Amino acid sequence: MIGAAFYPLAAIVEAVGGDAVRVETIVPAGEEAHEFEPTPGQITALEQVEIVFHLAGFQPAVDEVIDVLGARAVDLLAGLPLENVGDEVDPHVWLDPQLLAAMTREVGQVLAAELPAEAVGFTTRADDFIDRLDALDTEMADGLAACAGRLLVTTHEAFGYLARAYGLEQMAISGISPSDEPSAKTLTELADLVRDQGVTTVFAEEGLPADLARTLADETGAGSATLHTIESPAADLLAAGDDYFSLMRANLATLRAGLGC
Ligand SMILES: [Zn+2]
Repeated sequence: MIGAAFYPLAAIVEAVGGDAVRVETIVPAGEEAHEFEPTPGQITALEQVEIVFHLAGFQPAVDEVIDVLGARAVDLLAGLPLENVGDEVDPHVWLDPQLLAAMTREVGQVLAAELPAEAVGFTTRADDFIDRLDALDTEMADGLAACAGRLLVTTHEAFGYLARAYGLEQMAISGISPSDEPSAKTLTELADLVRDQGVTTVFAEEGLPADLARTLADETGAGSATLHTIESPAADLLAAGDDYFSLMRANLATLRAGLGC
């Protein structure tokens, strides 16, 4: 059994693994991923995991459980071109399709080394998934190439890599984790920035309380729209057939409307 710390990593492992592996996702659908603490029942279930993919530092409680499991832990942040926010590494790499592609290549290699008899299948499926990510990346780049606004005001600091990939600038109300509370000073500065820059949309996030985004939007006369961080999509979205690609395309449409592209 292969473990994946949260949704985007599970999406990679399921795509690359196909029928050859069983995947256990540690964060259940719709649960907040940053602060998630595995239950004793989950920890027992994870005892059969041979390899677990995670992003070291993103989910401290999950990292602690991984430490005691004895499974081989693979940190998919290793080797990626990372950015810091303050003194913290920004873990939200999956929102740049090219970084997700790099992680997919790594998952393919790790699985192929672990189960050599299945290596051809892993490599083929990894290549297919990367082709789809390349196509998504091209769509995103084309769709965001010419926008009236390039300032992305978000609820928490999740979209830094997406912004870097497509020439946008992110300003977040809270920090790297949604539980980082903004100060009154931060809120005042953001409100000034929204007014000065003529920002028309403040972006809230699926699965997080929208009150901060709504307050900022109300105070400045901007509108608000909802983006998917794809950290832990709600069960009803997944049941309706949504996946990484459909949620990123929904983000693209929301960004194009909100930024005037
Ligand atoms: Zn986040």
